Amino acid sequence: MKQEQIENWTCEDSAELYGIRNWGAGYFNLNQSGEITVEVKNDAGELHAVSLLDIAHGATERGLGMPLLVRFENLLDAQIGRINNSFRSAIESSGYNNVFRGVFPIKVNQQCQVIEEIARAGRQFGHGLEAGSKAELIAALSILDNTDALIVCNGYKDEEFINLGLQAQRLGVQVFFVVETPSEVDTIIHCAQREQVEPNIGVRIKLASKVGGYWNATSGDRSIFGLGSNDLIAMVDKLRDQNMLHCLKLLHYHLGSQVPNIRDIRTGVLEACRYYADLVEEGAAMGYLDLGGGLAVDYDGSKTNYTHSKNYSLDEYCVDVVEAIMGTLDSEGVEHPVIITESGRATVAYSSVLLFNILDTTSFEPIELEEDSIGEDTHPMLKNLQDALQSVTPKNLQESYNDGLYYRDEIRALYLHGQVSLRDRALAENLFLQCAQRIRKLLNEVDQVPVDLQALPEVLSDIYYANVSVFQSLPDIWAIDQLFPLVPVHRLDEAPTRSAIIADITCDCDGKIDRFIDRQDVRKTLPLHPLKDGEEYILGTFLVGAYQETLGDLHNLFGDTNVVSVRIDDDGQVDYSREIHGDSIADVLSYVEYSPQDLFERFRKLAERAVKEKRITAQQRKDILHTYTASMSGYTYFEK
Ligand SMILES: *Cc1c(COP(=O)(O)O)cnc(C)c1O
Repeated sequence: MKQEQIENWTCEDSAELYGIRNWGAGYFNLNQSGEITVEVKNDAGELHAVSLLDIAHGATERGLGMPLLVRFENLLDAQIGRINNSFRSAIESSGYNNVFRGVFPIKVNQQCQVIEEIARAGRQFGHGLEAGSKAELIAALSILDNTDALIVCNGYKDEEFINLGLQAQRLGVQVFFVVETPSEVDTIIHCAQREQVEPNIGVRIKLASKVGGYWNATSGDRSIFGLGSNDLIAMVDKLRDQNMLHCLKLLHYHLGSQVPNIRDIRTGVLEACRYYADLVEEGAAMGYLDLGGGLAVDYDGSKTNYTHSKNYSLDEYCVDVVEAIMGTLDSEGVEHPVIITESGRATVAYSSVLLFNILDTTSFEPIELEEDSIGEDTHPMLKNLQDALQSVTPKNLQESYNDGLYYRDEIRALYLHGQVSLRDRALAENLFLQCAQRIRKLLNEVDQVPVDLQALPEVLSDIYYANVSVFQSLPDIWAIDQLFPLVPVHRLDEAPTRSAIIADITCDCDGKIDRFIDRQDVRKTLPLHPLKDGEEYILGTFLVGAYQETLGDLHNLFGDTNVVSVRIDDDGQVDYSREIHGDSIADVLSYVEYSPQDLFERFRKLAERAVKEKRITAQQRKDILHTYTASMSGYTYFEK
């Protein structure tokens, strides 16, 4: 970065650099002090902005230190509102003759607080839940106390699952069973006849339409779930035989999650509507069309059909869906169905932010050399290396780099054979770093960067050590190369003069973040600020509300982080409405079947033996056991 650029840096430059307003969906912004804010409107239409740094400090003072997951109840409410209102206005403006009934798929964030908040905020819209297992159905039945809302049951269902759903129908709950495999319909017929309850049957179909994006394996002929056209006909015939065709009410499909291209969404709707119209023709009752999930989140803010983005707005999605349904069904003279979507990712992604602090950094900067460090008796190879360093110009970058590398490697070989000292080797490494850094700085001045040197900025970038476990808190980064916006939550009025990758606290070589969002491409390094003595440096990972919280795997026994739910009230005050302390070390040990009491007892015996052998005093034993117990009940992450 040029000196002038550093000195004139403003918050606006940070907003642009990190794309905050592009991915922030109007929820995230930054204030005059260079801090990221969450912005919410109250019912009176007043905008309140709250600094994430203030929330982090407030939580730390309450004993919930970093790493900390912050859930914004307002953002969850707002997103439920946006989805429902967008469908409402699309339905109104196009004259669609039925309503929208969203359901939230519990698997996307199963946390009780989240599901409760969705049920609460969704009440006024009749927003329901999707359950993919018995456990999820049990949670849904208790939390969703609203008979306007639907419960859609997907996944493999045994008799117990179906019986529970059927009996709940007697209570007035609207439960739908979606048939996912040909054999399931027999179980449903059997249970319904025994229970004497008319089931609401749905059917999941396999669409031939293939979609783009990461999750495209869920669509097309080979998708695991859903019925093909032959199975569908067999099912219709079976229901007709049993006089139950009027129970077949819903058509369901799911294209896969995070569908970046609106064209794929539209193609899916069109194909599904063909099936829908034919089922009506066959005599099924129908009335509900369930489009599944797939509504994407624009993680990089690029508004493109790139995997981590989407080339459509929520309004466009709703209008396209409504118009595609009308376009197909009107020409067949079929009545408009209730539109159901199972948007998970788009509902919850915005509401959670993971905050963590940086513990330390490593930079690949050379150290200042003494004047006389290369003298008469220094090995000639080192002098060659110094010559290579001194001859770097914009015209010979590649050549100088090759020379530097060659001499450095020669010196490494000499060291291996005992022909240069450790000090000479260290000197050589330092000279090479100087050479490489000088070349890197000159890369900006040449028109065409030689291919071999293109990776130099990454190779020389800093490593920032973060107090977080990627495996536990951001599993998709590791598992599927998911990109999330990652931004310092403060100091945005200062130029970020360092380029870095992030290493997590697990010290596993996969526990790193080295791909970052960019509007054109994927960044290999993230611009960050140099650490200041005595001041925390806090980064936020945004849009992590979907799929991240429950997939964590206790890698190195790092457990759940601290969590706070906050609500920004009508006056703009922050209400810490709920808090959950992260796992203690005793918690994570017991997850993998250790008994903390037993461990203590064994350690006590070890200490007692040391007393007997006079290695420690009884008083020292007490201190050691105290340290052991205190660690056992402490946080699994780095504590200050
Ligand atoms: C996972 C899943 C969803 C949620 O998809 P999103 O893309 O997160 O909205 C919806 N329906 C079914 C059947 C699913 O398996």
